Amino acid sequence: MIPHSRPTLGKDDYEAVLRVLESGNLVQGDMVIAFEKALSSFVATKGGVAVSSGTAGLHLSLIALGVREGDEVIIPNYVCSAPLNAVKYLAGVPVLADIEPDTYNIDIKSIRRLLSRKTKAIIVPHLFGLPADIAEIVSLGIPVIEDCAHSIGARYKGNYTGSFGILSVFSFYATKMLSTGEGGMVLSKEDKLLETVRDLRDYDEKKSYRIRFNYKMTDIQAAMGISQFKKLPQFIEKRQEIARRYNQEFQENISSVPIVSQEREHVYFRYVIMMADADNFIRQMESMGIMCRRPVFRPLSRYLGLLGYPVTDRIWDRAVSLPLYPSLTEDEINLVISESKRFLKG
Ligand SMILES: *Cc1c(COP(=O)(O)O)cnc(C)c1O
Repeated sequence: MIPHSRPTLGKDDYEAVLRVLESGNLVQGDMVIAFEKALSSFVATKGGVAVSSGTAGLHLSLIALGVREGDEVIIPNYVCSAPLNAVKYLAGVPVLADIEPDTYNIDIKSIRRLLSRKTKAIIVPHLFGLPADIAEIVSLGIPVIEDCAHSIGARYKGNYTGSFGILSVFSFYATKMLSTGEGGMVLSKEDKLLETVRDLRDYDEKKSYRIRFNYKMTDIQAAMGISQFKKLPQFIEKRQEIARRYNQEFQENISSVPIVSQEREHVYFRYVIMMADADNFIRQMESMGIMCRRPVFRPLSRYLGLLGYPVTDRIWDRAVSLPLYPSLTEDEINLVISESKRFLKG
């Protein structure tokens, strides 16, 4: 069986975790601080605040921007429900934007149509590891939270994703680019916002009361994060190498392999192709022991009962994600290629 995704773990990761266990300092401590420093200096932001998940990071980022009941937050329709939940936690109004047909990222033209006096923030995921039009979206003048859950290490015009928005959020869920089991981080260029997020992450020993959270990361997770982060360049290289193989093999059979762009470096968190018969393909591949998936389970508009998203609907209908991760073996890669081709040739 070839799983659709799996973490890439090694002896160095196990040993890093073991050292924390042996130290007896399990909760948020020096490892968390070191992980925050490592990621924020890599992305080139002022600082970072490690949290318990990407969702927690989005939640605290929205609070830091002052999002309250009735405020509108623009998010793409084609993404998992984490950004939607974060807006809803605050009784904000999620405003769904359509996506671009070639990058599958949020479409700035759609954003422009949705801007209103109530727009408080825009959440911009770099979907599947390909940077969105982030500089252009930031220049609209509305605070942007970059959702870098898929895109750690991806560059837009030479700068890392996460360095454009006023805040940016990362996830280290088990099968993301880097794995800490569960975990996340908020980066920002603004000390004031970092201070707020840091204050809200933890509830204990505060001078005055306000609603705060227990969104802390443990040192066990952070040690794993640091150890994984050291391997990020290798991980990305391996993902890009597999993607080049897939591109070569599939270009002639499938018109829509992921776009390759000079300005946007794709880190291939997901390798997504467009298929006329996606359900059938997924079933067929599964019967051969290869797990493929719809990369977005369901468009948010369908959860909310909204209509009028032609691009999202068309892409969702045809999108299939193939297994692609650093621990995929040569034999597994070959099998994914040969079985996909066999299906495509009918
Ligand atoms: C995974 C993910 C999140 C949420 O991260 P968690 O750590 O699972 O809470 C948010 N946005 C996107 C695009 C994601 O893929």
